[in-house]
Amino acid sequence: MCGIEAEQFAFSELGELWKQKWSLRKSLKKAEENERQLRTMKFCPKCGSTDVDFSVFYRPSIWKCHKCDYEGPFILEDGNVAEEIRKKHERKRQLP
Ligand SMILES: [Zn+2]
Repeated sequence: MCGIEAEQFAFSELGELWKQKWSLRKSLKKAEENERQLRTMKFCPKCGSTDVDFSVFYRPSIWKCHKCDYEGPFILEDGNVAEEIRKKHERKRQLP
């Protein structure tokens, strides 16, 4: 009887460990996904907006921003730099 109880206890403990491991893996996966999303994020080099697209219709390597009508081959992929540009752009817009 004693042996069976011990076995059951060990088993449930193992299950708990598994659950913890699983949720850790899930949160790790989520963080990874967020990072990937940030990495693949494209920003407009003029205004820092993420509202950018390839103008595939006529020139495949030209990016287009829907916010400030920027068009060019250069696109920003660094979120920190984009944030700076966005701030500067906002300040410029506030000037009379
Ligand atoms: Zn723009």
